[in-house]
Amino acid sequence: MISVTTSGPPCPSRRDSPLSALTTIGVGGRVPWLVEPRNVDELKAAVAWARDAGLEHRMLGGGANLLVADDGLDFVVIRSDAIRFVQRDGDDHSRLRVSCGVPIPTFVQQTREMGMTGAEPLVGIPGTIGGATAMNAGGRHGWLSDIVTRVRVLTRDQQDVEIEKTESTFGYRSSNLDDAIVLETMVVLEPGDKRAIQEKIKTYLKEKSAAQPLTEKSAGCVFKNPEGGSAGKELEAAGVKGLRIGDAAVSEKHANFIVNRGAATLRDVRELVARMRRAVHDRTGILLEREVKVWSKDPFD
Ligand SMILES: Cc1cc2nc3c(=O)[nH]c(=O)nc-3n(C[C@H](O)[C@H](O)[C@H](O)COP(=O)(O)OP(=O)(O)OC[C@H]3O[C@@H](n4cnc5c(N)ncnc54)[C@H](O)[C@@H]3O)c2cc1C
Repeated sequence: MISVTTSGPPCPSRRDSPLSALTTIGVGGRVPWLVEPRNVDELKAAVAWARDAGLEHRMLGGGANLLVADDGLDFVVIRSDAIRFVQRDGDDHSRLRVSCGVPIPTFVQQTREMGMTGAEPLVGIPGTIGGATAMNAGGRHGWLSDIVTRVRVLTRDQQDVEIEKTESTFGYRSSNLDDAIVLETMVVLEPGDKRAIQEKIKTYLKEKSAAQPLTEKSAGCVFKNPEGGSAGKELEAAGVKGLRIGDAAVSEKHANFIVNRGAATLRDVRELVARMRRAVHDRTGILLEREVKVWSKDPFD
């Protein structure tokens, strides 16, 4: 662990804090500082503090697409959870400014209550708007990028700027925001009928919970879909469903999900990921690319 000689961060923070409870799969060791800014100004001050102290920092949203090393990390982790607001973006009712810490389910529910359609494809996806913007979250019915107009970011050199969405801003499960911190995401929706929106939400959620282990502890899809194919189908055909290392197991419901059956460690998950990838490669020659992010000093793949 690093030793921090400066005074503490300029906002609420916890020293020597475990991350396992802050990731949806429940895996991860401690970090020297977990910083929890309550607004964008505090977030910016926290980044400046970390930089001045010579400490590396990472952004944590809902931890829903994240695996963290068992023995912890030497990073300052800045968690967006307390930065939550949804405001109108200008005079137009259909344009919203959504802060990075807003949970995706809250955003979907709030837009339904406002009678605005467009966010329904995100139903059932855990995490925050900041993480969803960085990862371009979505699924078969649409991606977050479909409704994004601009993104307010804090760049690596601490410039607070708004970036207009262009064709190259987002890709499949990725954004081209150059490791900037997402502060706010501006979206455009359309007026819609609340009951019709609710029906769509219900249908999409039913579909998703029939296919994915939404009630178990996981970090979402392990691998990206290969060009023109489905990682889940390839993994299922390779027979990995139910494969288990320690307390980490491939879900019986969806072969691209690893679930934590108790006290899984990153070591267990890493071994399982390697076996899953090998099984598909041996059968098809396809080398699956990892989707889930890993925070670890040691190489993972
Ligand atoms: C059961 C389950 C189902 C899922 N289904 C889907 C799905 O259908 N579609 C889908 O796309 N994903 C899905 N996921 C994955 C996950 O929900 C999404 O990737 C989500 O967008 C992650 O957001 P987060 O806030 O949890 O990000 P985190 O896991 O906290 O972080 C992920 C990455 O984003 C970065 N990040 C977080 N916040 C910010 C910020 N403010 N600025 C810049 N970078 C940031 C982190 O540093 C990290 O690199 C699923 C996950 C689970 C557990």
